[in-house]
Amino acid sequence: MLSVKKALEIILDAARPLSPAVLPIKQALGRVIAEDVTSEVTIPPYDNSAMDGYAVRSEDLKTASEDSPCRLHVLGTIAAGDMPQKSVSSGAAIQIMTGAAVPEGADSVIPVEKTRRDGDSVEVFSATKAGQHIRRAGEDIQPGQLCVSKDRVLGPMDIGVLASIGRPEAPVVPSAKVAILSTGDELLLAHEPAEEGKIRTSNNYTLSGMAVECGATPIDLGVVKDRPGALPERLKEAADADVFVTSGGVSMGEFDYVKKDLDEMGWEFKFWKVAIKPGKPMIFGLWNGKPFFGLPGNPASSVVTFEVFVRPALMKMMGHTTWDRPEVEAELTTPIRTLPNRAYYTSAILTQRETQYYVASAGSQSSGVLSSLVRANCLIVTPEGTNSLEPGARVRVQLLGPSLPA
Ligand code: AMP
Ligand code: MG
Repeated sequence: MLSVKKALEIILDAARPLSPAVLPIKQALGRVIAEDVTSEVTIPPYDNSAMDGYAVRSEDLKTASEDSPCRLHVLGTIAAGDMPQKSVSSGAAIQIMTGAAVPEGADSVIPVEKTRRDGDSVEVFSATKAGQHIRRAGEDIQPGQLCVSKDRVLGPMDIGVLASIGRPEAPVVPSAKVAILSTGDELLLAHEPAEEGKIRTSNNYTLSGMAVECGATPIDLGVVKDRPGALPERLKEAADADVFVTSGGVSMGEFDYVKKDLDEMGWEFKFWKVAIKPGKPMIFGLWNGKPFFGLPGNPASSVVTFEVFVRPALMKMMGHTTWDRPEVEAELTTPIRTLPNRAYYTSAILTQRETQYYVASAGSQSSGVLSSLVRANCLIVTPEGTNSLEPGARVRVQLLGPSLPA
């Protein structure tokens, strides 16, 4: 059977980055930027005050102190956003607000707290140095400076910088549209009333959520019956999807039609079955050149195969250059079962005490049990050929989220 590593290689080879699109920067949040962005402007564009106070000439205040304040004549006020109309001459000051342009003649700003206003003059209680409380033009960004480099995932500060340099749009790799569809005669949607012999689909919800979590856009196509042709019929509703993810119907059952349907649809079959637990019957290929994942229907199987195979593909398609989850080595505190011929992904709970990581099984590892994955914050990865393990063993742990537990 195909190893996890080989299966992932085939998938990543087939998953090509989507073409960049120019998006308004707010919509570009979380996207990978497709080009270097350099500034054409100077930030801040002019010397400006870092304090509310008075723009002064430092040489006028050499002797100023608490006990012996210096008195300056106030020539006017400059608000943030106004340009100074006057310059500061010897013995004078101009009242200035934070962010306002520093007037000619002034080389320093005295904070208002160190002054006392008296009509059209001001008493200053402290000396100052040239440059004090002045933010220099270009101290943040110079023309020609690289502000955001290609392949970076745009965060809030990146889009803030783009806004400051006057770039309301950015070329980014768009979110991948992922069609999600469950197959199964037994499946009801969450809002549908219970019926004998039926269960509610969880996969539409978990898989849509996992797609959102990695920055993709799910198109939830609901549930189709185990009937030949039902799958292609429903897929027409998401013809513009970039990736297709189905769950169920890929095992050896009498009514498992996914592969037959795909063969009829003329897809490019890549593989069926991977040496993984949970998730063995997974199927993969390309339909109209787009990755098509047929995940097994068991809830834990579909979650684990999405995590291990679909998520990296989506990340690559969305322009990311890395997608590996953080990994640590931890000491096992409960026994875990493994399978000799398959990589085993045990849903587990990782904790940290002092500098040491400990990991415990999150409960039942049955492919049908989702609640263990609700408790889990990681997967213990035991490669093919590992024997079942006892407490005290050291294991490799892959986090299910972006950061380590506190
Ligand atoms: P299958 O892969 O279709 O053979 O389904 C395997 C098991 O997973 C069966 O017990 C199904 O009832 C269950 N199952 C299939 N699809 C879903 C789904 N969307 N949500 C929850 N359980 C499912
Ligand atoms: Mg089924």
